[in-house]
Amino acid sequence: MALQTSLQKIRTPWVERISRELASGEGVRVGFAEQLERFYELLEQAVMTGDIAWLDPILYDWGHAPTETNLDEGDYFVSFVINRMVSLTIEVASKNLSKKDALELLAVVIPIYTHSLSVVVRYEMETRVAHISSELGKTQEKLQQLDRNKSSFISVAAHELKTPLTLIEGYTAMMADTVEQSGQSQFETLLKGVSTGIHRLRHIIDDMIDVSLIDNNLLTLNFQPLWITHLLNLLKNELGKTIHDRRQTLIINKFEGDNLMIYGDSERIYQALYNVTTNAIKYTPDNGTITINGRLLPGFVEIIIADSGIGISAEHQAVIFEKFGQLGRTDLHSSGKTKFKGGGPGLGLPITRGIIEAHGGTIWVESEGHDEVEYKGSTFHILLPTRTEASDPRIAKLFGQFETMKPESETDPSGKEKSPTNDSPA
Ligand code: ADP
Repeated sequence: MALQTSLQKIRTPWVERISRELASGEGVRVGFAEQLERFYELLEQAVMTGDIAWLDPILYDWGHAPTETNLDEGDYFVSFVINRMVSLTIEVASKNLSKKDALELLAVVIPIYTHSLSVVVRYEMETRVAHISSELGKTQEKLQQLDRNKSSFISVAAHELKTPLTLIEGYTAMMADTVEQSGQSQFETLLKGVSTGIHRLRHIIDDMIDVSLIDNNLLTLNFQPLWITHLLNLLKNELGKTIHDRRQTLIINKFEGDNLMIYGDSERIYQALYNVTTNAIKYTPDNGTITINGRLLPGFVEIIIADSGIGISAEHQAVIFEKFGQLGRTDLHSSGKTKFKGGGPGLGLPITRGIIEAHGGTIWVESEGHDEVEYKGSTFHILLPTRTEASDPRIAKLFGQFETMKPESETDPSGKEKSPTNDSPA
């Protein structure tokens, strides 16, 4: 029997068998049968012309048909339908045709199914990848929105807290004056306690404001000449009492580059060094040692702050420079700023990184891991550009962008900028 006759003979049982097997429910079955009729017509064309591309339009439609729910639940497989069609076609052909005709038909039809399968799998993959990318995009957008909300919340909260704090600060100072004049010494200690509390609170609020400035790229730097050695001496003086109280040793070595005049915001760089060094004190047990070293590299000076403390696990190293990287470890929160393991709100290192990066530098940590038996410690590295002029690297970068955006008329074909002398006669 000719192929065309065989195809016509099994058309009705084929559509019935497949829709019965693969479509559940009467309503779905009608729509599915229509699709099968369309598929079968194109299959006939492909068999008769020997051109498998006839099936491409329907395969394209099927491959791109899944709904959002199908994709979310991961349960849409046109490839599964085509796979089942192969075995059901074999079944229908052997039931309705002679052995010879069935074999003849299947020999032509099965390669067409194989082709269809590969096409559909590709379309399915493309649809899935597109769906996943769009979901990822939506999630990223939501995360960015959340981050923006968090950042503005911090900024608003910090500014709101600052006003009452200033009032409390003022009244406490007035009370301290009155107490001093009236000689009521019993209140002096109480007021000192209030002052310490206010001081801590102001520090936290200032940190919150710094974080929101850094987040919004609004940190302004006041570039002046500075010498690392001066900042380290200041640090030594300021932390001397704490180091003594904790019976620790602070070693500040001389190194090439510590006496070099560089440009930077000395207050901000001091703040960064202070944060890293107070952390070194905080996370090192009593009697431990903190060593500050450094070296001069081409274009940079490196400051290395090493401690003999509890160290930082690799997993934790990845988050400590992120805002609130420490949140959740309530066991590490304590009231003392330099007390052993007295964790704070987790803003010190993000601010430090913000300051260093705003200077065009970088900061990272090395540690063999958290170890409270051998205390192998942590080493923080800070790279600062040995800038010799008072320019903000972020502004320089912006100017760099303007340079690349210049219209063609301002550059000659060799790519060099036209200078006024180029245009003037020799
Ligand atoms: P915190 O206010 O909690 O000290 P930081 O941002 O300064 O916040 O530091 C984040 C976290 O990084 C700390 O809570 C601590 O777990 C870890 N850390 C920072 N410096 C050290 C160090 N020198 N040794 C061990 N852990 C450290």
